[in-house]
Amino acid sequence: MQDDTAQFVCQRCGACCRIKNGIVRVSGAEIARIAAFLGKDEAAFIAEDTELAPDRRGLVLKSHPDGACAWLTDDNLCRINPVKPDKCRTFPHEWTNSDSASVCPGLRRTRS
Ligand code: SF4
Ligand code: SF4
Repeated sequence: MQDDTAQFVCQRCGACCRIKNGIVRVSGAEIARIAAFLGKDEAAFIAEDTELAPDRRGLVLKSHPDGACAWLTDDNLCRINPVKPDKCRTFPHEWTNSDSASVCPGLRRTRS
């Protein structure tokens, strides 16, 4: 089977961080490392920067009403890049879903 990510080159478009109704769950370990990176108390990070997941099972990073992650800059950079959640870190090499190719132009290029 062909590896769709073998030729993948990120276009730095930020589309994967702007998925309407997309969520980025954060584990306790991820919360701890992001809070430490920000120099923020974990409880404050949880209160100010996360919200309950739609299924009410855990926490997700907050996003803007248009779906953009709260940590995405206007020039498509991640403000917590060194400590971003594993889901973000592994996309699209290890973590993808059935919608990924329609979201990510880097993946679409490898499939053309
Ligand atoms: S944490 Fe960073 S990489 Fe992950 S969705 Fe938000 S802006 Fe994108
Ligand atoms: S959608 Fe794909 S090409 Fe665009 S920033 Fe995300 S990983 Fe890179």
